[in-house]
Amino acid sequence: MNIKTVGVVGAGQMGSGIAQVCAQSGYHVIISDINKELLDRGMGVINGALAKAVEKGKMSEDAKKTVQQRLKGTLSFDDYKPCDIVIEAAIEDMAEKRRIFSSLDRICPPQTILASNTSCLSVMEMAMSTKRPAQVLGLHFFNPVPVMKPVEIVRTLVTSDATIGTVRAFSESLGKKVIIAKDVPGFIVNRLLIPYLLDAVRLLESGTASKEDIDDGMVLGCNHPMGPLALADFIGLDTVFFIANALYDEFKDPKCAPPPLLRKMVTAGYLGRKRGKGFFDYK
Ligand code: NAD
Repeated sequence: MNIKTVGVVGAGQMGSGIAQVCAQSGYHVIISDINKELLDRGMGVINGALAKAVEKGKMSEDAKKTVQQRLKGTLSFDDYKPCDIVIEAAIEDMAEKRRIFSSLDRICPPQTILASNTSCLSVMEMAMSTKRPAQVLGLHFFNPVPVMKPVEIVRTLVTSDATIGTVRAFSESLGKKVIIAKDVPGFIVNRLLIPYLLDAVRLLESGTASKEDIDDGMVLGCNHPMGPLALADFIGLDTVFFIANALYDEFKDPKCAPPPLLRKMVTAGYLGRKRGKGFFDYK
């Protein structure tokens, strides 16, 4: 299938990045959110990023206008009718995702591919809320989408080879490096990353070392660009907690169980960078 028009559901952190990258790669993009304020905020983020690219001389004013003309915001799923693929990037909540997939299935033509940017929920469960499970897959971008190179394609038991092939070619046309995983919580990257982040929290909790020394150890000792506690803050401690619980529910591996300190920080509202406070302060 030749993809020309891309739908994006959700204009938050990930949805706005996905829409921007698709429009910059020449696709027509239709993006929605649940209300005008959130949609405008997402469009504002995209326009801000494009303006910055012009300012830095990385994009001409004309190219910016062309990209902006390819982007259309909407509050109605009916506008997804012309889409060849719709990428869902709404909140990480299975009930909401199932509702979205079932609506898209009703509205989009039979050949449209439906993808989810979920971090850890079962793609199979979303697929089964449609009548086209062979055309449903996970397409897990990394944050920030315009900067991060990989994209994980998540294949369920019933995703067709044709769907994988089309989405692989589409992802590569966005300049992404495709990695493919089965539909198990965490896929590749979070399956390896989350237990490591949780171990860093356990080191801090047990008093083995200070937060600064834990992070310096990994930055300087392993050449990581960021220490594990700063990285957890960047991802969002609520997100780390949510993914850890999903991994623990599936595998019952104690390494995936969120340590009490992480739970307490989430309860206290110390969610990391986005709230100005996590393991470190960001004021
Ligand atoms: P976010 O909260 O920034 O954005 C989600 C947006 O979806 C919100 O604006 C919300 O109003 C909107 N939304 C909710 N229901 C909707 C609906 N029915 N129709 C249209 N819009 C709807 O969240 P995010 O960080 O962008 O995450 C989105 C998805 O991407 C989640 O599934 C998350 O697990 C996944 N993800 C997040 C990251 C990350 O680092 N933040 C990385 C990879 C994947």
